[in-house]
Amino acid sequence: MKDLKSYIRTVPDFPKDGIAFRDVTTLFGNPAAFKHTVDALVAAFKNDRVQKVAGIEARGFILGGAVAHRLGAGFVPIRKEGKLPHQTVSETYTLEYGDATLEMHLDAFGAGDRILLIDDLIATGGTAEAALSLIERQGGDVVGCGFIVDLPGLGGSARVKAHCDHVVSLISFDD
Ligand code: AMP
Repeated sequence: MKDLKSYIRTVPDFPKDGIAFRDVTTLFGNPAAFKHTVDALVAAFKNDRVQKVAGIEARGFILGGAVAHRLGAGFVPIRKEGKLPHQTVSETYTLEYGDATLEMHLDAFGAGDRILLIDDLIATGGTAEAALSLIERQGGDVVGCGFIVDLPGLGGSARVKAHCDHVVSLISFDD
């Protein structure tokens, strides 16, 4: 298999001018690259006794679902505003390109449950931090955070390390 990074497509000026969008659909679409990605995240967190994987809509669902299955854990969807049908907790945050609100079901897990947060990419860390705050407010014990891509220049992974010691990303884009 080629370097994992080569499976990620960069789309310039999406969703707005100046953003280099790191598109992981090309990685998800390649059987060997997708398997390698899931295997690497499972290996990184296999000793953390994860009880639930929390995945952030929408690419975090694809990745988090596969990782949860392999770790023998449950899955908790963290969704954009207005999508979850039952009682929710919510958190509003700032994205690299705009504002957004994330929601999670109030009863998504029990107090003290060991939670692994998964998303495709960490940029400024606002999205992951909002998700971590939802999990922490419900009494979850965040044992890990896993991403395919880190954009370290935007400082997100450093921000997330304040909440969680075990932060893993498989690829980093420095520009
Ligand atoms: P942030 O809150 O700034 O860390 O942004 C992370 C979230 O926005 C993730 O859910 C990513 O899927 C998405 N995102 C932000 N910036 C990019 C980017 N340059 N390329 C692809 N996805 C991005």
